[in-house]
Formats: sequence, structure tokens, C-alpha cells
Amino acid sequence: MKTLSLYKIKKSRHMPDEILIDQLCKCCWVKCPFCSAVCTNTIEDHSPDDHSVPFHRPSGINGWHSKGTVEMSINFCTTNVASNGSFYPHYDSETTFPYKQYRLAGPEYANWRITPDDSKLAYWKWFVCRFQKQLEDYYKKEFQGRGAIPSEWHSITKDQAIQSLDEMCE
Ligand SMILES: [Zn+2]
Ligand SMILES: [Zn+2]
Repeated sequence: MKTLSLYKIKKSRHMPDEILIDQLCKCCWVKCPFCSAVCTNTIEDHSPDDHSVPFHRPSGINGWHSKGTVEMSINFCTTNVASNGSFYPHYDSETTFPYKQYRLAGPEYANWRITPDDSKLAYWKWFVCRFQKQLEDYYKKEFQGRGAIPSEWHSITKDQAIQSLDEMCE
């Protein structure tokens, strides 16, 4: 055994990080163009299946805001695509696009299946409240006006937030 150097161990088997990278890199890593949630499909190139994620996030987490204002976006993608609102597909777009037709807004939108519904994971409500200041400082925007955090979000406890993640995984 005394000749078994760390070097030899390293040579003889895959290191844990290599195994993880090998496994994880075969997943899809495409992010939702609105909230940046990562597609949960376990196959890297799964076309023609759409990208999807069980729970989207408030798009303010990804820096979305009302153009020309400091108002962060507080809405979940699932709420937005059910609404009659519209958005600027790119930061330099001059015209808006209806949320209901988001798939036509460009290649990064075309292959995402965002179900218009009212699903809002408690975890992300708690997250926005907990890290409000950090998000505001990072993006130099504010959760105010149209982007005001609904008051009931503040009553979500950390335990409830974690529990919502557990329920999602069941
Ligand atoms: Zn999203
Ligand atoms: Zn995907």
C-alpha cells in the first residue's frame, strides 16, 4: 500500500467532479428567456420537444423591469403569458410583443413551453422578499409601483419556502 500515491489514485479512477460533470452535462442547460430558470429536461438536445420547467420565477430575478422605469417585474412567467400584457423581446427592441404570442418573439422564445397558469412556488416569493435589497442593488432597480411585492408574500416563512420545494420534488 505504501506505494499507492494520490497520483496513482487520481490516474486509476474517475474523480467525483468528472463523474458529476459527465452526468450533468448531458442535461439540457437552456434557460427560460424571461426568468432564467434552467430547463429540467434530462436530455441535452431534446428537440423537437419543447424546453420546460415545472416552476418559473418572478422575472425580476433575471433583471426584467418596465422599460424606462426602475420598476422591477414581479410577475411569474406563467402569469405573464396568461395576461394581455406585452414585452420588449430584447433590451434594445423598439416595439413590444404580446405575451400570449411570446413564442413568435425570437429564436430564444420559440422552443419554450410556458403554460399559462397561476402556479407560483412559495419558495420564489420568499426568495424575492429575502433578497429584495440584493436584487435591487444588483440591477439598480426597485420592487415598487407595478413591481411592488404583494404584501402577503412577506408572511411566507423560510420553512414554508423549503416545504414548497419538497412538495415540488414529490
Ligand atoms: Zn420563466
Ligand atoms: Zn431543454
